[in-house]
Amino acid sequence: MPKQSGDAHWHLENTYMTLPTVFYTPQVPTLFPKPVLRYFNDTLADSLGFDRNATTQSCWAQRLTGMVQPLGSQPIALAYAGHQYGQFSQLGDGRAQLLGEQVTPAGERFDLHLKGSGPTAYSRGFDGKGTYRSMVREAIISEAMHALGIPSTRTLAVTTTGERIRRERWHEGAVLCRVARSHLRVGTFQHAALQDNPKVLHALLRYAISRHDPTLMQTDQPYALWLRAVADRQARLIAAWQSIGFVHGVMNTDNMSIAGETIDYGPCAFLDRYDEAAVFSSIDHDGRYAFKQQPYIASWNLARLAEAILPVLHEDRSKALAAAQAMLDHFAKTFTEVWQSNMAQKLGFDDEADNPLPWIETLLAHMQRLKLDYTHTFLTLSRDPFSQDLPVDNGFDDWRKSWLKALETAGVDQATRMKRMQAVNPARIPRNHLVEQVLDAMEEADMAPFDALMKALSKPYDYHDTDARYEARPDPTYRFVSTCGT
Ligand code: AMP
Ligand code: MG
Repeated sequence: MPKQSGDAHWHLENTYMTLPTVFYTPQVPTLFPKPVLRYFNDTLADSLGFDRNATTQSCWAQRLTGMVQPLGSQPIALAYAGHQYGQFSQLGDGRAQLLGEQVTPAGERFDLHLKGSGPTAYSRGFDGKGTYRSMVREAIISEAMHALGIPSTRTLAVTTTGERIRRERWHEGAVLCRVARSHLRVGTFQHAALQDNPKVLHALLRYAISRHDPTLMQTDQPYALWLRAVADRQARLIAAWQSIGFVHGVMNTDNMSIAGETIDYGPCAFLDRYDEAAVFSSIDHDGRYAFKQQPYIASWNLARLAEAILPVLHEDRSKALAAAQAMLDHFAKTFTEVWQSNMAQKLGFDDEADNPLPWIETLLAHMQRLKLDYTHTFLTLSRDPFSQDLPVDNGFDDWRKSWLKALETAGVDQATRMKRMQAVNPARIPRNHLVEQVLDAMEEADMAPFDALMKALSKPYDYHDTDARYEARPDPTYRFVSTCGT
């Protein structure tokens, strides 16, 4: 069959450009010496209406680095502001651009965004580039999150640029094509608030609502209900992180999506041994973004969102403040409910009936005290609560007996318990030591470990696949620290 043109299958629209021009700057292409497609997500491509074989690798590579504009694309760098580690800054896509929104065969709309594609109007003197290593790391973790059932931006492709870029050492440069429900962040609303013009805020709110919560436009309080919808998505997302053991690492307001997806994979990591104070980012000295802090930080970020839109939330300021407070209350209540329900299921309980909280809290206390591996502990309990692989410890043993007794009293039989637990306790997560091994091999041009890991991570809840390599805990002395070599 003859090759079709490189522009077949692109169905891009540019609705972001209906916003006032303060929200973006048109982007000119950066030329790269030798773009080569290294990772292409065929399944995702298919759902977006793309076919890898419809065009040549080099056509893809040119479009997925931003060197050639695909049909219908009007590339823009997005403007936003943000609190970074609590400090407010004017930011924006300093090393990224939005190609446009791909409308899928099913009629859904997804942003296609290139990360690492060269300097923009918002680069603030930085190079606008990204390392191959950090882009592949994002590909692995974002796709693993999706397979785990946690809302996340996804990775369509990683393309190396043929350029060497300087970080703590020289790296190969690469561009990641990120797929997201949108790139509207809390920081986008902070940027709108800075314009000190209610029309700008109204325009952004109407746009956000039309993209994510279109039915709210017909209600009499669209903004207050939208705020609540954002808080609801965020509460469910953070509850999912807390129950799977994920540390985002940089929950700045510019890294919080109002679509409720996990976005911006930087110094993130999954917990190995359970420690509620775990931090993986080398620059987070105060533990602002530690594991246990995440729900509080999410709430803090949502308060910044409410603050930004306060001038238009209600004509009556006291009613605007009441709506903001109601949203924060809704976040706290929803987070607690969803987290408890998730954790209950991780232990085989039916959350409504069984009052499982004491067993959850006591188990976490034992895990903290005994430095148990988070994923491995739940996995072992899901397989066999009498396994030799569990710690020999009187306290833990008493907990296990009372937990099994509580399940029995609640009428949960063994088959039901195992079915519930195995549906939510993953056998395979992107363990830090495994990801590092894969990235090392990949930098030596060996993609086989990457392909094998991606395959293993695509079925995290498959208890029949018993390849022990992907379940193995790291050496107890292993400590993962993520640097900013991004
Ligand atoms: P992040 O911590 O990845 O969310 O990035 C924070 C801000 O720094 C964003 O505005 C990024 O676009 C920008 N940024 C990060 N790395 C670079 C880079 N190499 N060149 C230009 N801007 C960057
Ligand atoms: Mg960011």
